[in-house]
Amino acid sequence: MIELQNVNKWYGSYHALVDIDETIHRGEVVVVCGPSGSGKSTLIRTFNRLEPIQSGRILFEGKDIHAPGTDVNVFRSRIGFVFQQFNLFPHLTVLQNCTMAPMQLRGLTRKEADERAMALLQRVGLANKANAWPSELSGGQQQRVAIARALAMQPPLMLFDEPTSALDPEMVGEVLLVMRDLTRDGMTMVCVTHEMGFAREVADRVLFMDEGKVLERATPDDFFNRP
Ligand code: ADP
Ligand code: ADP
Repeated sequence: MIELQNVNKWYGSYHALVDIDETIHRGEVVVVCGPSGSGKSTLIRTFNRLEPIQSGRILFEGKDIHAPGTDVNVFRSRIGFVFQQFNLFPHLTVLQNCTMAPMQLRGLTRKEADERAMALLQRVGLANKANAWPSELSGGQQQRVAIARALAMQPPLMLFDEPTSALDPEMVGEVLLVMRDLTRDGMTMVCVTHEMGFAREVADRVLFMDEGKVLERATPDDFFNRP
């Protein structure tokens, strides 16, 4: 689904991604781990062009997403992204956050958009908060709304950038539960996370990064059980 071919990225003179070759297949759950500053966030941000790259190619469904002239919105509507900070619009209700631009652009009626959003809020356990403001929700609830909002575009690929790192510990579980639920549905997912229990349970593959390189790729069993 995503194929990286010899990808390199620099921030000025800092070599942030070094010769990355990686393929993520449909239905795979990949967890990216490694020390802070190793390039994990940069890596997944290149997948939907939140970060430009300086050399190499990234193919999504066979198309080069960094090719000049490519419409970035086409990819962004196909790739859901959940950030560490939930980035909800504070002046919109929970429901409105989920019915914003993406669905309207796809020509759904207001009613259809609302129904789809309600079904997603149901799925993340927040149907009863549809008319609340983001500021009325806990961090864990806000992150679950952010996940519902990303799912509203019905993306075939979901990217998560440390989705639980900004949460109080007691709220981490409810977000991981929603993510687990997605893996059961066969969603293709790439998750940057320090939640190794989650990785162990649901990852098909773990990538370990350091200094801009993917140093290891392994099944969770191999990764966690090696001496
Ligand atoms: P991680 O997600 O593994 O913590 P990042 O991908 O956020 O790592 O960052 C990798 C390296 O690139 C870090 O050294 C970071 O300081 C640097 N970096 C990230 N974003 C920028 C930027 N916009 N400009 C300059 N350097 C950056
Ligand atoms: P994360 O690892 O979740 O991306 P960071 O705190 O590393 O969070 O980065 C937050 C923002 O600051 C990102 O947009 C990143 O690109 C930018 N950033 C990170 N490191 C640097 C840096 N050394 N110089 C400039 N911008 C940076």
